[in-house]
Amino acid sequence: MIDILSMNFAELNKYMEELGEKSFRAQQIFRWLHKSYVPDFGDMTNISKNLRERLAGECEIRLPKIMQVQQSRKDGTRKYLMKLSDGELVESVLMEYEHGLSACISSQVGCAMGCAFCASTVGGLVRSLFASEMVGQIYTMTEDIGKRISSVVVMGIGEPLDNYENLLRFIELITDDKGYDLSGRGITVSTCGLCDRIDEMSELSLPITLAVSLHASNQQKREKIMPVARRYDMDRLLATCRNYFEKTGRRLTFEYALIAGENDSERDAVSLASILKDMHAHVNLIPVNPARENMRAPDKASVCVFRERLMRLGVNATVRRTLGSDIDGACGQLRRKNI
Ligand code: SAH
Repeated sequence: MIDILSMNFAELNKYMEELGEKSFRAQQIFRWLHKSYVPDFGDMTNISKNLRERLAGECEIRLPKIMQVQQSRKDGTRKYLMKLSDGELVESVLMEYEHGLSACISSQVGCAMGCAFCASTVGGLVRSLFASEMVGQIYTMTEDIGKRISSVVVMGIGEPLDNYENLLRFIELITDDKGYDLSGRGITVSTCGLCDRIDEMSELSLPITLAVSLHASNQQKREKIMPVARRYDMDRLLATCRNYFEKTGRRLTFEYALIAGENDSERDAVSLASILKDMHAHVNLIPVNPARENMRAPDKASVCVFRERLMRLGVNATVRRTLGSDIDGACGQLRRKNI
């Protein structure tokens, strides 16, 4: 079956041409798919019955289906369990900020990266998501909540740069002004640091924000918690990030999960500041969320002290709010479930 929701506009146009249809058909269908989020060809009321039947025979609309919604009592964050067309499950999260709704979407079923603190990687990687399944998470949540989502973070289950082609296609689709028309600046892609892919992406000068999961200020500490550090060491990663900034002019965000007794000392702050200085980067501190093993976050005061140290050393840093922790919807708590 053709994955029609993953087709970009040019491809849909070509497909319609091949079927001998007029070119405005592609526009109509693109609208049905990317503005009205119809799950069924039968709903495309301005399309002839013949064409609808033909499409239904050849194509599939791979919109995820909501299986379960949990809402946080603390902050209203909603976590969605979604079923994909082959029955696999992923989770997505919807958060309310002053500036609007922000969605956190998954890019893979499971994850191959093996980070020690993250629940999403426990069962390994099952498969990557198609672009349709990534835009579909946004469409499904938009329908459910009845409001437009203004920013998207690709920080759910999976490593987005391990699903590079589909990620690029997702960005193209969700920013298309004939469809959802999300601003590229509203998109953040978080990676554990797949340098070859970051290098490739730096050539594209996308308007998105790249966030890199650093979590340690030296190679030895990083290797201990992130297996990917053995593939790309700290020097390579920092060189890659510098190159990305130079090529694209877009400032990077570095994510740093604070783990008590592991990476939260004064020395860690000093060493982090020294490797990031002259990168014009932003550090996002994430008090580690309980997910696996016995990792604890430092207390609030220590998190503040760490942040202030960085600021004094000339590194711009903020603390990420922990949203949805009472529903296991915070960073590192999403996982592939069997229900
Ligand atoms: N694969 C991508 C996206 C992961 S999720 C990446 O590695 O960047 C987004 C962020 O949450 C990453 O920085 C990730 O390292 C972080 N994270 C994972 N588990 C966490 C946990 N238990 N507590 C806090 N942050 C966590």
